[in-house]
This record gives sequence, structure tokens and C-alpha cells, in this order.
Amino acid sequence: MAELSNNYDNLSDGALDILFKSHDMLIGGQRVGASDYIDVLDPTNGKVVGSVPKGTKESVNQAVISARRALEHGSWATMRPYEREKILLKLADLIELEGDILAEVEAVESGRTLMNTRLFDVDFPVNCLRYMAGCATKIHGKTTTIGQGFAPSMEFFACTLLEPVGVVGGIIPWNVPLCQAIWKVAPALAAGCTVVLKPSEMTPFTALRLGELALEAGIPEGVFNIVTGIGSEVGAAMVEHPGIDKISFTGSTLVGHRIATAGSKTFKKMTLELGGKSPMIVMHDADLEASIPGVAMGIYGNHGQNCCAGSRLYVHEKVYDKVLEGLIEEANSIVLGSSLDPTTQMGPLASIAQQSRVLRYIESGKEEGAEIVAGGERLDHPGAYVTPTVLAETNRDMKVVQEEIFGPVLSVLRFKEGDDVVSLANDSEYGLGASIWTQNLSKAHQFVRQVKAGTVWVNTHNILDPAIPFGGVKSSGYGHEMAEEAMLSHLITKSAVINIT
Ligand code: NAP
Ligand code: MG
Repeated sequence: MAELSNNYDNLSDGALDILFKSHDMLIGGQRVGASDYIDVLDPTNGKVVGSVPKGTKESVNQAVISARRALEHGSWATMRPYEREKILLKLADLIELEGDILAEVEAVESGRTLMNTRLFDVDFPVNCLRYMAGCATKIHGKTTTIGQGFAPSMEFFACTLLEPVGVVGGIIPWNVPLCQAIWKVAPALAAGCTVVLKPSEMTPFTALRLGELALEAGIPEGVFNIVTGIGSEVGAAMVEHPGIDKISFTGSTLVGHRIATAGSKTFKKMTLELGGKSPMIVMHDADLEASIPGVAMGIYGNHGQNCCAGSRLYVHEKVYDKVLEGLIEEANSIVLGSSLDPTTQMGPLASIAQQSRVLRYIESGKEEGAEIVAGGERLDHPGAYVTPTVLAETNRDMKVVQEEIFGPVLSVLRFKEGDDVVSLANDSEYGLGASIWTQNLSKAHQFVRQVKAGTVWVNTHNILDPAIPFGGVKSSGYGHEMAEEAMLSHLITKSAVINIT
């Protein structure tokens, strides 16, 4: 077994420059404190590893004033796109240069292994940022020939212009903190918008460092502001503020619903990346040798704290026993430990609150008749650990099959020959991801077309890429992260009609 509590002796000087300190917010390019501070905890041991200001409604107001000033009177929105691109590419380089430091800080604040944080909070989002930087020079309107009967003698030149939507409010969770921050900030900045970002108060350090690096890269003061604090105060104030034009939110469906309702009062545009309960279907003809570890990664990747985690598994009765047995082995073989221990394969959950929530779900599954065939426990340790769990004998009416757990808990269901796997996959209020594991090409294509989900995978799960839009349908929200779609959602269309008679 790996060590369970993080040992900070080997942290780099760069990480120690960020951790174990009291930080400031970033408003109008200035560091701004507050009267109260929030402690940030290491989830491997509950120790305080620094603090951030508990921002207020007034902090949000100041940040919005700065962002509006930068939008309306600054250079960012009107800068030549290739210059914005150059600055964003410079920012990507700076993040990459500090990659090891940022990965360490993220491992300490979020409890995820260094390999995980380096890959998903540094390397992948840096690629996303570079992709978005390139999008800045590919913003195109259209030209068209017009001329209705009411002006037969006149001639016109007509076109559309795409303009930045304005000030964007980004509100993000704690599961992949720096990646979430970059997903929000990159398309907004590429489009020429200015930003107010609220990171989760549980994982704020890397977002604050991103703000500093943005200034260093040449992003003008006030273009990118960061307000730390509590969602119900700072987040809610952003959603209500008339000076914010668009909210880009990632988080729970419950809070997303609240935001959509409150934001409608000021007609804000919205991108809502919400919860999921993504199905994985294993057909009888699947290559089990590849499918079993693939499915295990689908649920246990990022400790199951992944919005598109494959948390409902449907297995054909012919291969059910073999798949279940393989999954139990996979779950039991995962080495739990502290995020900085290189032998760790899975760290703790992000907080004790999240650990309690996941354990409550496991308990509810047991009460409703599910069988815990792997894991299902907390470790006898102050860290927020939950052992990788497999629940067998589950059915559609159980909470563990319908509700998002956001932890390492897989509910396994059996299906019979002749059952409609598309209906099984669609049997959820959510529609974020879905996967099918099969060697039947036409079955796979039909599944891709018929499933109601933002992303459908075949013989894989959770593969994301900067060039592939990512978003949900149904209660998983609307709008996209990444790809051209993300940038387009930060632009509004203006039509121009010019009399050239
Ligand atoms: P959450 O409670 O919904 O919080 C998300 C963010 O919203 C946090 O910054 C939070 O601040 C803030 N917030 C809370 N109440 C608010 C309000 N009334 N107005 C404005 N902002 C408010 O979610 P979480 O527990 O942090 O994260 C887990 C959830 O995120 C899961 O349900 C998961 O599915 C979802 N998620 C979705 C995606 C996706 O792309 N679809 C990706 C990752 C996660 P506080 O931290 O202070 O509460
Ligand atoms: Mg929350």
C-alpha cells in the first residue's frame, strides 16, 4: 500500500511558493484581499495548505467593472486576432514551462496523482488553449446577396460580423480545476471577450496562478479577473450582475438549474455543463480483454469524479459473469494512496463532504438490494478515501442507477438477448456521454445515431480532444466546451446592410 497522507518534503520550490500561503484575488490586474479568508485543505490528510479571500458581492462588482472597462475601452476586443493568438500561445508556453509545479499544486489541493494532474490539468488543457488560440484568427462572418421586392431599384452589400459576446462569467468545480479554468477562459479570450472567473474554493490555487501567467503573457489588466469565494455568494452575484453578458458554468444539475433561472432575469447567454450518469454497454461480442480494463477506466478514471464517468454498466447476460469477475479484479487491484506518492494509482476524493456523499450512495444501494462485490468502504484514516466500488444486482429503480454519485462507484446491470440497448442507455434524465463495446460495426453506428448524449464512444470511453466539442443534452445541460463550437458560443452575430446604389 502507498502512503495515505501527503509528505511535502519533496515538493519543488515553485510549488512551495504557491502552497502554504494566503493568496489574493486578481481584479483589474491588482491583487485584492478580503476581510475573511477560506482555508484550502489537502484531502489526503485534512491539513490546511493555504487560504484564499472569501470574496463578496462587492468583489464581484469590482471585477465586473474592470472586465467591462477592459472590454469597452481596452485593447483586447479590438486587437488584431493574430495578436490575441500570439499572446494566448505565449500563455500556453508559460503554463507548460511551469507544468510540473502546477501539477504538484493541483495534486495537493485536489488529491489526484501527479500523473493525473500533469496530464489532465496541464498537458491536455495546454493543447486546448493552443487550439483556441488558433481559432482567434478563424472568426468569419458571411456575405450574401439581398434585395426584396420593396426596394427593387436599390442595390445592397449585406454581411454578418461576429463580435465578442461581452463579459463572460466562468464558474467551475473542483474535479479537474486548472483544466476547467482553461476550458472557460480560452474560448472567451480567443473570441475577444473579457472574463470574471470563480474557481471552486476547494481548489483555487492553480486558477490564481493562471491569472498571473496571463498578465505575464501580455493579456492586458482587467481582461481576466478572478474572484474567489463561496458559490451561493460570489457565484450567485455573478449570475445576477447586469454587467455580465454570458455565464459559462460547469457543475451540478441542481446549481445549473438555479443559474439558468436566475440568469434569465438579465437575459444572459449560457453554457451549462452539468451532471451525468453515462451508460456503458458491453455486448456479447465485445473483445473482453480490452473492454474490461476499458470499462474500469471509464468509471475509475479521476476517482469517478468525472462528469462523463461511465457509472451505469449494462452487460449482456452471456458475458455478465466474466465481465463482473474481471471488474472486481480491476477494482481490487487499484492502489489507493496519497497524491504525491508515486506508487499511488488512486488518491482520495476531493473532500470529506464528497466522501460522505459517496458513502451515503453506497449505503442506499445496499438498502435497495444491490450487492457490494468490490470496495464500498472508507479507509480508517483522516483522508477522504473511498475504495473502488462495484455494485452488482442493481436495477433501474435504484438511486445508484439514476443519480449522479461523482465517485468511484460502478452500478452493474444485466441485459438479455433481444433487449433494446438504446432504450437502456437512454433510461436516464442525463445525456452527457455513452459508450458501446462491440465488434459489430452496424450495431455500433446505430447506437451512435440513436443514443441521446453529447458524446458517444465505441470501444472506448472518456476520450476527449481539443478538436471534438464536448457538451450534454437533457439534464446534462447545453452548449459546448472545446472545438470551434466553444468559441462560436462566445460570439454574437451582427448583420450589416449597406446601400451601394
Ligand atoms: P456545484 O456544487 O454545482 O458547484 C460548481 C460551482 O458552482 C462551484 O464553483 C460552486 O461554488 C458554484 N456555485 C454553487 N452554488 C452556486 C450558485 N447558487 N450560484 C452560482 N454558483 C454557484 O458542483 P460541484 O459539487 O463543485 O462539482 C461537481 C458537479 O459538477 C457534478 O455534478 C458534476 O457532474 C459536475 N461536472 C460537470 C462537468 C461537465 O462538463 N458537464 C464537468 C465537471 C463536473 P462552491 O464551490 O462554493 O459551491
Ligand atoms: Mg458544491
